[in-house]
Parts: sequence; structure tokens; C-alpha cells
Amino acid sequence: MKLILLGPPGSGKGTQASLLGKKYNIPHLSTGDILRSKLNDKDALAMKLSEIMSSGNLVPDSILNPIVTEKLLSEDCKNGFILDGFPRNKSQSDFLLEFLEIKQIELNLIVNFTANTDTIKNRILERSKTENRSDDNIKAIETRLEKYFTETQPLADIFKDKFKGKFFEINAMQEISKIHYEIENRLKNA
Ligand code: AMP
Repeated sequence: MKLILLGPPGSGKGTQASLLGKKYNIPHLSTGDILRSKLNDKDALAMKLSEIMSSGNLVPDSILNPIVTEKLLSEDCKNGFILDGFPRNKSQSDFLLEFLEIKQIELNLIVNFTANTDTIKNRILERSKTENRSDDNIKAIETRLEKYFTETQPLADIFKDKFKGKFFEINAMQEISKIHYEIENRLKNA
């Protein structure tokens, strides 16, 4: 089962990825989580990442691309993966599509989460009360949303075009269980 989840920050991709990962026993590859785990290293890279991420900006492709390909080629991902948070811009998307083609990795489903901006902002602010994320402040949220709308959202059309029958759009403002159910249903036919 090989999936890519697209959608804005705060749209619940992580929650759904984690549910699906447990159900199908496949890794949830969240680039945000991978980067956050690197912050603990407290080295020069961690300092650079921390500065970029706490402002809500995107980490350079030169850092992300090798991390993602290494993970995708790992033994853990042999039977599948759920990619969450990548690609985030056109160059990551070009890079990933070429990589998948070269390695002959077939995707089963691309899920595009959609939600309105107010819902997303509220969700992220709510989350900030329980998770100690440095980028869950209003200024960083605005930047992350701006990056999403200018750089990430346009990728949906590229995936929709390229993976016609495998592209699935979901209304992410519904209940968690309803979203999970709809994705599951779609997966049965993937
Ligand atoms: P997320 O947890 O997916 O919201 O990601 C948190 C932060 O990590 C983002 O705001 C970016 O700074 C960084 N990040 C995660 N994934 C990517 C990516 N594919 N490209 C660039 N930066 C990323």
C-alpha cells in the first residue's frame, strides 16, 4: 500500500496517516516529524532547521530530497508507506515523480485533503495548546498557509492529471472517523 497525502497544514493528514499506518502496518513518513526529530541533535543543521521551521518557511530541497529517498528505499518501506508532508513544491514534486519512475515504485492512492482557511487556522491554534510546536504561533501559521497556497496547492493538479484513477479528494472538515472510512473505502478499490 503506497500512499501520498497532500493538503494544507492542520488538515488532519498526520492523524489519518497514523491510523492507516497502524491498520496496514506500514510506516508513516512525515517529513515534518523527521525534521523535528533532527532538532534534538543540537548541531549546526539543527540550528538551521529550527530557524526555518519556527518561522513557517520551507526547508531547502537539498536537505529534504535525500532524506525522503533514503527512507523510501529502506527495508521498512518495502511493503508500503504513507508519505505525509512531501512534496511541498514543484521541484520536490518533479524530483519525487522522477524517483518513483526510476525505481518503478507504483503508488496506490494520492489523497488530497481540502479544508477552508479558517478551519485550518483554528485547528492549528487548538493543537498549539497541547503540542509544543514552535511553528504553531499565528505569524508562522500565516507563513505556512501562504507557502501552502502558493507552492503546494498547485501540485494537486499535477497529481490529478498524472494519476487519474488514483487521485482522491477528501473534505477534511468532516469527522476523523468519517474521513478514515472514506479513505478506507477508496483504498479497497485501489
Ligand atoms: P509539518 O509538520 O508537515 O507541518 O511540517 C513542519 C515544518 O517542517 C514545515 O513548516 C517546514 O518548515 C518543514 N517541512 C516539512 N516538510 C517539508 C517539505 N517537504 N519541504 C520543506 N519543508 C518541509
